Amino acid sequence: MAAYEYETHEYDVVVVGAGGAGLRATLGMAEQGLRTACVTKVFPTRSHTVAAQGGIAASLSNMGPDHWQWHMYDTVKGSDWLGDTDAMEYLAREAPKAVYELEHYGVPFSRTEEGKIYQRPFGGHTTEFGEGPAVQRTCAAADRTGHAILHTLYGQSLKNNAEFYIEYFAIDLIMSEDGQCQGVVCWKLDDGTMHVFNAKMVVLATGGYGRAYFSATSAHTCTGDGGGMVARAGLALQDMEFVQFHPTGIYGSGCLITEGARGEGGYLTNAEGERFMERYAPQYKDLAPRDYVSRSMTMEIREGRGVGGEGDHIHLNLSHLPAEALHERLPGISESAKIFAGVDVTKEPIPVLPTVHYNMGGIPTNYWGQVLDPTAEDPNRVVPGLMAVGEAGCASVHGANRLGSNSLIDLVVFGRAAAIKAGKVVNPDEPNPVLNQASVDAAFERFDSLRYAKGNVATAELRLEMQKTMQRDAAVFRTAKTLAEGVEAMTEIAGKLDDLQVTDRSLIWNSDLMETLELTNLMPNALATIVGAEARKESRGAHAHEDHPTRDDEKWRVHTLARAHGNTVNTIHINLSYRPVIVDPLSTEDEGGISLKKIAPKARTF
Ligand SMILES: Cc1cc2nc3c(=O)[nH]c(=O)nc-3n(C[C@H](O)[C@H](O)[C@H](O)COP(=O)(O)OP(=O)(O)OC[C@H]3O[C@@H](n4cnc5c(N)ncnc54)[C@H](O)[C@@H]3O)c2cc1C
Repeated sequence: MAAYEYETHEYDVVVVGAGGAGLRATLGMAEQGLRTACVTKVFPTRSHTVAAQGGIAASLSNMGPDHWQWHMYDTVKGSDWLGDTDAMEYLAREAPKAVYELEHYGVPFSRTEEGKIYQRPFGGHTTEFGEGPAVQRTCAAADRTGHAILHTLYGQSLKNNAEFYIEYFAIDLIMSEDGQCQGVVCWKLDDGTMHVFNAKMVVLATGGYGRAYFSATSAHTCTGDGGGMVARAGLALQDMEFVQFHPTGIYGSGCLITEGARGEGGYLTNAEGERFMERYAPQYKDLAPRDYVSRSMTMEIREGRGVGGEGDHIHLNLSHLPAEALHERLPGISESAKIFAGVDVTKEPIPVLPTVHYNMGGIPTNYWGQVLDPTAEDPNRVVPGLMAVGEAGCASVHGANRLGSNSLIDLVVFGRAAAIKAGKVVNPDEPNPVLNQASVDAAFERFDSLRYAKGNVATAELRLEMQKTMQRDAAVFRTAKTLAEGVEAMTEIAGKLDDLQVTDRSLIWNSDLMETLELTNLMPNALATIVGAEARKESRGAHAHEDHPTRDDEKWRVHTLARAHGNTVNTIHINLSYRPVIVDPLSTEDEGGISLKKIAPKARTF
């Protein structure tokens, strides 16, 4: 192996990732005076959060009556009763506080006539515990909410002296013999130098793994690097089989049209011009949750009512909306529709198709963001020194299906929670942990083996094979047959990681090597997804199993835990186990909390 010299950096906290979650955590840590570094492979404001359009959910009641308990109820029901109840209560209760904080930090929200934060309707957000009409709960900065949040949080983090390591690629976690996280090994992409970050707390905020699929709304950088690092450290990934398909990706390019488009009055039609959602979800129609709408669209296409020459997509209509409303509330998507579909939204419908959008599963944590290493005796055991927040984590507030605008709020609520907790468990006066050299060396060895990989399969080729297989076999609808075939195909594909070929050996801007590292991260995420899906013999949220069409709470109201085992550094097999769902809320009815009866599982109709 080539010898790698490296520079060591000591911090109280190292946050990996500078999206909404990473920046909110970084800011919170730095505000408390913890020495904080934020490491990111792309420039902070280029993180995928920048693309978030529609908005951020919080029961501010600016547009009509709302209550955190209603938000919590919708989240519980949206999750199809797989979310952890304590975390879902924490999310809904803390959401207004977290949004007002963003406002005070300087996020330029759209305003109502009276100058309050503007809120729009979004799918699955209702009033009166799902009995009342849709609510306007989603706070928005036009259709560029993520962009506004990211820029504000980056500025505030700099103001609080957080230190940024930009275009540094985190390769692997440094773990002690007894399972404590002590830091992370990084490669600086622009000059090829290597860096070891030693910290009392590492926070993974690396985002989702949408790029395990062929067609996704997420950026090419969404490669599940945090999940890959955790899997290699022998820790579990949770509920990976739940992958959200957004109903309205632009047909062909996969570029997102926000649900805010339907929130502002847009609706879907089939080849007969029929507003078919009225049949599937008589009460909430086009504003039913995403899993519901995506399945309805797929049924329409399957039954021969798709639009276009091939009858393989659906129309999203906005042309009936006043041009000023489109201009003021949805300027970004009007532009996307023009560029990616050649459509003028004031005149024609946009061709759309359900497209991979969000990963409900991820690194299991409690509602403080602390990573869990569940055992049979203690399903809530905490890994010392390691947290995960944002789409990389699984707290779990989205369970089997996430409601639109509940991710941005998850980023800031749990980014903030992680900082609050770190303020309690990280002592700046204590010395940093002594690094386990064997773990540092192992990271460099893996890096080196990929840098000099001389096999027969090019990275791009293997990645495409994985993406096509996932798209075909772990889709909106799944059957025992497609899943079994998918597991077999993906096992074979994952096996080829040992036969990779990297042609560029340099250390400076070596995109071949970086994409190879990313592929070794995507693979355990993808494999855990399909293996978990094959094992789950029920339908719940985004997991629609045609041979087991109903939800089975008796047997399957449990979180899936997937651990990767390999006989070489890169090959992987998945072992599954399960962990009970947390059903108790944080506060009882007497303390102003929600009654357990209110949120008891029932059929999920809209
Ligand atoms: C097009 C689109 C629109 C959306 N709209 C909405 C919306 O309106 N409302 C809503 O609630 N949700 C929305 N979502 C979902 C939401 O935006 C995402 O779930 C969320 O932004 C993820 O944020 P994050 O901070 O977890 O990760 P990201 O924003 O993806 O950031 C990940 C960070 O990790 C860093 N990183 C990753 N790997 C490494 C590594 N190996 N080394 C160093 N750094 C690394 C990256 O550089 C980046 O800074 C949308 C998603 C998409 C794709």
